[in-house]
Amino acid sequence: MSAVGAEVLARARARDAADPLRTFRERFALPVDERGAPLVYLCGHSLGLQPLAARELVIEELDEWAQRAVEGHEHARRPWVPYHENLRSGLAALTGSHPGEVVAMNSLTVNLHLMFASFYRPAGERRRILIEAGAFSSDRHAVASQIAWHGLDPHDDLLELAPAAGADLIEEQAIETFLAEHGREIALVWWPGVQFRTGQAFDIARIARAAHAHGCLAGFDLAHSVGNTPLALHDSAVDFAVWCSYKYLNGGPGAIGGCFVHERHTGALPKSGHRGALPGARLAGWWGHEADTRFLMEAQFHAAEGADSWQVSNPPILAAAPLLASLGLFGAAGMARLREKSVALTGFLEELLAPLEPRVQLITPREPAARGCQLSLRIAGGAGPGKRVFDHLRQTGVVCDWRTPDIIRVAPVSLYNRFEDVVQFAERLTRVLWGSA
Ligand SMILES: *Cc1c(COP(=O)(O)O)cnc(C)c1O
Repeated sequence: MSAVGAEVLARARARDAADPLRTFRERFALPVDERGAPLVYLCGHSLGLQPLAARELVIEELDEWAQRAVEGHEHARRPWVPYHENLRSGLAALTGSHPGEVVAMNSLTVNLHLMFASFYRPAGERRRILIEAGAFSSDRHAVASQIAWHGLDPHDDLLELAPAAGADLIEEQAIETFLAEHGREIALVWWPGVQFRTGQAFDIARIARAAHAHGCLAGFDLAHSVGNTPLALHDSAVDFAVWCSYKYLNGGPGAIGGCFVHERHTGALPKSGHRGALPGARLAGWWGHEADTRFLMEAQFHAAEGADSWQVSNPPILAAAPLLASLGLFGAAGMARLREKSVALTGFLEELLAPLEPRVQLITPREPAARGCQLSLRIAGGAGPGKRVFDHLRQTGVVCDWRTPDIIRVAPVSLYNRFEDVVQFAERLTRVLWGSA
């Protein structure tokens, strides 16, 4: 007997058959269990699946290295020295940026520190940083350490805005109200595009506008946004942003991350030297030097144009090649079509979970504009029963994840998930709940 009904499965299969993006699934490696049976993979918010082309591109670089060795820097099919150029247009398209505003480099938290080195300049009374309460641990550690690095006390100067009592979500209105009251003490607002635990998508332009209205800079962590929700970083007047590429961007574990610096900052940069008013200062390295003269190895630093000047080291080619493969898929599918399907997929998941209320409570916003593809579920009864449900789900071959204290995160990803995957998830969750009733 089916827990969700044969009609629902038929409807899902019809939607999959009519899906203009259905063939993209075939271009990914689909994970299986120990016996080779397919898993229901709904965990692209944590690690995106492997594009089949990633293997080819990595092997190509291994072959280039084997055959050409050092000459690969200049003469590989995709020369290594300017390798990041291959990633630029795809990243600009996904983030709504001008090409010179984005660069693939390092990893998320490292990029956060590099950006803060330029953009967090506490001065006088304006020295605080506003973040969300319950921020991702790495962000909180990094931000607190930046405050301490400036000789200030995170206890005083790290402001954490919490949801209203009893609520899980933070309304943009609450950020505006907080800034109206405390904005003059705040140097920087650091906010997620999509909150990792709740799946709430914030109105980035509105938060940037509110920050700027009070003289604060606005930076964003797009770990859960890029490749998930449409972004318009340039038009949103975001000052800077960072992201990782192993979640929705399918760049593979430890993939090269990325950052955005708005043109209005890079245009004003002094061409040489490390001093100058914000944001003239950066923590520099040779890869941020203008490329034409980099190998003259001169003492004087001459900044490259745009976001490129924040690069420090030469990039990890083997951690960048898979991202190139994935960006090719995003380009072919198109973010508008991906988002359209994503809204439908997640809406379908929401519909199938509705009969499970109140045992399963949806904490992600209901409005599609206020979420990406992830839904966050709280199982009634607290952390113990919730974790048991999660563990049983995993035994049924569902891969999603658990976030303490009591959240199951599920993300149907429009590049490779089907409506049928959503039915299988709902079916198995329903059975697990029946079994644990
Ligand atoms: C995934 C994620 C990170 C991971 O940071 P790394 O530097 O890539 O290890 C950081 N912050 C947020 C909000 C994330 O979702």
